[in-house]
Amino acid sequence: YLREMPARTVTKAKCSELVLTNQQLGQYMKNFLDAVRTGLKKANHQNAIVKCFPTYVQNLPTGQEEGKYLALDLGGTNFRVLMITLDPNAEEPEPDPDAEEEAEPEGGKLQVVSETYEIPEELMTGPGEDLFDFFAEKLSEFCGAQGVMEDELPLGFTFSFPLTQIGLKKGHLERWTKGFNCSGVIGQDVVKLLEQAIEKREDVKVKIVAVCNDTTGTLITCAYKDQTCKIGLIVGTGTNCCYVEKQDWVELFDAQDTGSGIVIINLESGAFGDDGALDFCRTKYDIDVDKDSINPGKQAHEKMISGMYLGELVRLAVVQLTEDGIMFNGKLTEEFKTKGSFETSFVSEIESDDPCKYDNAERICKELGVDWGTEEDYQDLRYVCCCFSRRAAFMVASSMAVLIRKMGYPMVTIGVDGSLFKLHPHFRNTCEHKLREILIPDSYKFQFMETADGSGIGAALIAAVSANDE
Ligand code: ADP
Repeated sequence: YLREMPARTVTKAKCSELVLTNQQLGQYMKNFLDAVRTGLKKANHQNAIVKCFPTYVQNLPTGQEEGKYLALDLGGTNFRVLMITLDPNAEEPEPDPDAEEEAEPEGGKLQVVSETYEIPEELMTGPGEDLFDFFAEKLSEFCGAQGVMEDELPLGFTFSFPLTQIGLKKGHLERWTKGFNCSGVIGQDVVKLLEQAIEKREDVKVKIVAVCNDTTGTLITCAYKDQTCKIGLIVGTGTNCCYVEKQDWVELFDAQDTGSGIVIINLESGAFGDDGALDFCRTKYDIDVDKDSINPGKQAHEKMISGMYLGELVRLAVVQLTEDGIMFNGKLTEEFKTKGSFETSFVSEIESDDPCKYDNAERICKELGVDWGTEEDYQDLRYVCCCFSRRAAFMVASSMAVLIRKMGYPMVTIGVDGSLFKLHPHFRNTCEHKLREILIPDSYKFQFMETADGSGIGAALIAAVSANDE
């Protein structure tokens, strides 16, 4: 694919280390499986890189759940409050061919109302107490508007940062990721912090029954619709995944089996490579992105894949190719040279141009003040974008192959959320194509199922399947 793309020969040569060969992907899969196996063992847990946290979620939904449930969802850039109403006997509406793909249909077994709030920048790096007070305030506003202030509804809390869980509703924050860095939260039980913030207000009454992350929420949301869903995957601001494992193979799992014999494992796969397991394919751009991040030395895998970093990787490579005198006549604007100026959505736009058309590439360069680009420059820019997005998609596909083989189910649905996976014009296709190629010799079948709001709805569904577990 890349070989066919027009670009300068010298650009292609300089980008060659971004093109992962099947042999490299084989190495990647071996290392990833080793990392997962290590993470599942108790003796290694302290030092494990891919942490493989048991989520304590043992029940997958059956579609027979009923009642009203709440969820709070802190993913990355946004914070959501949701309420779901489940009615197993409701008629499913006819699919509306004109409806937006993302929209949940009106009517049916699962009804959702939700509000989304942007997190003020100062809360992302301020005192943790302010952040949790903000959550409680928005929850109270939402419950007031829905008329459920006094109902003490079960609530699932999606908190999509690495948690060490010691129970379904007890989770200690390991570390912040994705640009957050609030004081006084690391090492604390985030359910307790939320409970305290809610109690302080003395207005809204809820019963927190579960804490989970977005990957688990996504898995559960898809499993409600399709029982073959065994993996939850996020490719958004960050990247992470979870899968269904047999309790017997999870040494860290210390709770009573409530009957299923399985437990969802949150890999925290974003950290893969933090011990050097990805050094065989990391480039100087990856090293620079890491150095300039708020968590150097952490989340190597995430920094090669996710939306928070992909645009910046492209920018660094273009800056280098320009400094080398290859692109843009050796000149760029200060804006283009500024960290963060090249958004990941630009990568999607540039790769959305029709073949041999460079309208988006040209417009974006001009927006960044670079109005002297030639067609060859735009070809190179698109080539660089494509190198990074394909590398990310290949890595995601390879990690999915490892999990599918490890579980051994003949058919696996992968529940997915995240703007990069959903909005990039080729990410999903590239992923599917590579995963199919890898799995051909095994005859395993798979499909991706995209969810909207999966992380939030999933937390509410976990509240539904777990409300009576205590
Ligand atoms: P989160 O992961 O924070 O819950 P999202 O799934 O929306 O939220 O991911 C946000 C990330 O997706 C941002 O890093 C942003 O750069 C990236 N993104 C937003 N729009 C696009 C797009 N059109 N194409 C690719 N990436 C995008």
